Amino acid sequence: MSELNKLSKSLKEIENQLTDCMKCGMCQAVCPVFKQTGNEGDVARGKIFLLERLAEEMLTDAKGAKTRIEKCLMCGTCAANCPSGVKILEIFLKARAALTEYIGLSPVKRLIFRGMLKHPERMDALVDTAARFQNLGTSKADPNQGTRCSKLLSGVIGNRHFLPLAKTPFHKTYPSLNIPAGHSGLKVAFFPGCVTDKMNPEIGKAVLKVFKHHGVGVFMPKGQACCGIPALASGERNTFDTLLAHNAALFAEESFDYLITPCATCTATIKEIWPMMSEKDSIEKFRAGQWAPKTMDISQFLVDVLQVAPAQKSYAGSHSIEFAGDTVTYHDPCHLAKSLKIKSQPRDLIRANAACTFVEMAEADTCCGNGGSFNLQNYDLSKQIGMEKRQNILASGAGTVATACPACMMQIRDVLSQNHDGVKVKHVIEIYADTIKD
Ligand code: SF4
Ligand code: SF4
Repeated sequence: MSELNKLSKSLKEIENQLTDCMKCGMCQAVCPVFKQTGNEGDVARGKIFLLERLAEEMLTDAKGAKTRIEKCLMCGTCAANCPSGVKILEIFLKARAALTEYIGLSPVKRLIFRGMLKHPERMDALVDTAARFQNLGTSKADPNQGTRCSKLLSGVIGNRHFLPLAKTPFHKTYPSLNIPAGHSGLKVAFFPGCVTDKMNPEIGKAVLKVFKHHGVGVFMPKGQACCGIPALASGERNTFDTLLAHNAALFAEESFDYLITPCATCTATIKEIWPMMSEKDSIEKFRAGQWAPKTMDISQFLVDVLQVAPAQKSYAGSHSIEFAGDTVTYHDPCHLAKSLKIKSQPRDLIRANAACTFVEMAEADTCCGNGGSFNLQNYDLSKQIGMEKRQNILASGAGTVATACPACMMQIRDVLSQNHDGVKVKHVIEIYADTIKD
């Protein structure tokens, strides 16, 4: 099919899905971006108005249309509250892909996606090198959070406070695993995800500790690549297709009962976006369709499948060391709470640690403001949204804020670090793993 035919087919598909929108405006009341900007163009309804004349916009101001479509966290709050069930995220992803196909990638994104992300080995080597030299040009930001910042790079990264890259990424400690099922009788495929691998290997280690404790076999193929969502969110289908094909071939090498990740974004991507956006009639579409029902976030797997439940035992009987006497609150990642409706399981996992006390924060399921590329392109707005999350965390009185997405952890750590708040930022699996003796 010619490029022009492909483009007009994509536009037609988008157009057909737009007719479901009845312009009721319910999405306006819940959109975290609109709450800050008050701009109708930032809401799903405003973007749908724009997409209704997308073909025309492409001829007159394609770059402007792309900027407006991309000013969105892809949090799915609008879709979760839409009475007509408009497939908003699917429409936005397709529109971003169509616009990028028409305009082309910027040189910077071409370098990041096609030059780096698309090639997992090259990406790992670059991150290794960056980890070795990362202290040059950066300085300590906040000892509570262990963050760094960089005046030298402020033109590129703003005044972000970020966790340094791990000295030893997860894949260096565990390049691959193929452990048979233990007493649970189950074997899972494990997809740690990029942020766990490169910044938070302790999350991956906690998952493996928990699998071992529950007698769960693990298949973790060597050379896993990114799930592809950063590329797709920028409209870069080419890199997304390559990464999907790469990962799908790796996971097809072994049979497993469930595919588990500790990252809400990876879970939603593998479960919903891989089958939705893979090429029609391709082997990837077939495999992704087969894996979708058995793809789970780690907390859903532990609670729904392995029946981990809130602890009944007293504090004195608990093994937990790190969280003994702590108060823990929970932030719902959008990709878990809104996309997959997983809300109770991560809370149950925290409650399974009898040594700490769970407290609910206000607006726990409001977006933290990260949004992946949104944070990179709209940092001030992203931070404004994150500061509201910070207020709710502090108001809860918790000593630890837990979540189930390493990307949310980055955003929450940044806003807490900016204010030198002493609240710890943890993944729920770390809180549960702390109840298990090594
Ligand atoms: S809530 Fe749904 S139907 Fe209503 S305006 Fe928004 S997208 Fe359209
Ligand atoms: S996905 Fe989130 S940020 Fe984007 S329009 Fe919907 S509610 Fe607003």
